[in-house]
Amino acid sequence: MRLTAFTDVSLRLVMRLAVADDGERLTTRAAAGMLAVPYTHMAKAVARLSEMGLVEARRGRGGGLLLTEAGRASSVGAIVRELEGDGDLAGCEDDPPCPLREACRLRSALVQAREAFYASLDQVSVESLVASPAHRTLTLLREPPVGG
Ligand code: SF4
Repeated sequence: MRLTAFTDVSLRLVMRLAVADDGERLTTRAAAGMLAVPYTHMAKAVARLSEMGLVEARRGRGGGLLLTEAGRASSVGAIVRELEGDGDLAGCEDDPPCPLREACRLRSALVQAREAFYASLDQVSVESLVASPAHRTLTLLREPPVGG
């Protein structure tokens, strides 16, 4: 099982925002540069995390991205569960659908396994993700030079 790129980008942003200084106003473009992801991917992650109430995107002068209290208090499991959704882990309903899908025990085993995966991540808080040594690495991130 592998997280979607979208979930990974979203979690990178949550971690970076969790260590932002009070006065720091990180833009979407700056976050994309620091976290080595395309701007469009970061913009989509910002939009989704804003919808979920985890990130606030303030506009205008002095604006920027902030982690909300709900974002700070969230568990990693809650974020991943929401972003990954509950679609099939295999191609059960693909076109053409799998002929075993009506009575497949693997399908239900995979659903249970995913629940166990989420339940494990429920024990991990955003705060704990940014504890040392991650905190230092996150705070040292810089935008790459233009053209670099
Ligand atoms: S074998 Fe089972 S889990 Fe795999 S695609 Fe078919 S229905 Fe889904």
